[in-house]
Amino acid sequence: MSEKEIYDIVIIGGGPGGMTAGVYGGRAELKTLILEKSFHGGQMVSTSDIENYPALPETNGIQLSNDMLEHAKKFGAKIDYKGVDSIEVLEDGTKKLVTGGEEILTKTVILSMGSTSRKLGIPNEEKFTGRGVGYCAICDGGFYRNKVVAVNGGGDTAVEDALYLSRIASKVYLVHRRDELRANKTLQTRLFESDVEVVWNSTIKEIQGDDKLNAIVTVDKTDGSERTIELDGLFIAIGGIPTSDLVKNLVDLDPQGYIITNENCETNIPGIFAVGDIRKKSLRQIITAAADGAIAVHSAEKYILEH
Ligand code: NAP
Repeated sequence: MSEKEIYDIVIIGGGPGGMTAGVYGGRAELKTLILEKSFHGGQMVSTSDIENYPALPETNGIQLSNDMLEHAKKFGAKIDYKGVDSIEVLEDGTKKLVTGGEEILTKTVILSMGSTSRKLGIPNEEKFTGRGVGYCAICDGGFYRNKVVAVNGGGDTAVEDALYLSRIASKVYLVHRRDELRANKTLQTRLFESDVEVVWNSTIKEIQGDDKLNAIVTVDKTDGSERTIELDGLFIAIGGIPTSDLVKNLVDLDPQGYIITNENCETNIPGIFAVGDIRKKSLRQIITAAADGAIAVHSAEKYILEH
């Protein structure tokens, strides 16, 4: 495409929200481009079994990611593996994106950059990242066959990770800061039926090791007692931080950095929409990201017609 041509929709981020927007944009015969800076699928790629996406009771993250991308491409959406450096709204409302020195013009933008793993911010966390400390059990769990691991967190991700690791490791601890889990009941039931040992009411005070992690020190907040647990691996699964830096001076964000939209996925800037985990919302799932993608394209189409 030459510089003078203008896309109808450029989607920044190729997670489930972005790829669904690709399907809808392509199918509506809108000139649609997905820009993805790493691998299509977003956090979905690091999810092993997916069993809550309708009609696909036995899929997995990589399969669903590839299927969504093929679906978007089938209807004519394009994908380019590039990060976006800046977004500017020109006087006539056209949006100018810069990606590695190249300029892309588009009538509308769908922000779909998702979120990244939250860090604990404790001693040695950074030093041992990749040397015993990880944020993606599905990606790195295979290194811990017959070893002892812990997962930190009490949400769906932490419980899924603990269950996944219990099929590989010899022993799995789940360290959670409260006395009840945030994870859904199905996962909780499975967890309590498994061999995973839950360390309740506890935070991780310190990560110990020489070249690599060999233990964690937990603190029980009910009585202040400390416990040293010898480990080969620790997976931190304490939620995400929205990847909204690119647009922090462009669209309205909530205090946590999530993009504020209305129910039509419209931000406060006309022609800029947001979908998926980066959006302020109550339920961050593949299905809700996909629904956002459909809604955002419907809104973008309306915006294009009206302008
Ligand atoms: P989450 O739901 O935000 O849970 C984060 C967990 O980490 C919470 O248990 C929280 O404790 C704990 N936590 C947060 N900050 C902490 C800190 N500084 N120290 C210790 N613990 C801390 O995150 P998530 O589990 O990654 O899930 C994110 C979204 O994706 C959710 O909407 C979830 O439903 C969805 N998801 C869905 C599936 C699925 O449906 N199969 C799978 C994965 C994720 P508190 O509980 O005390 O706040």
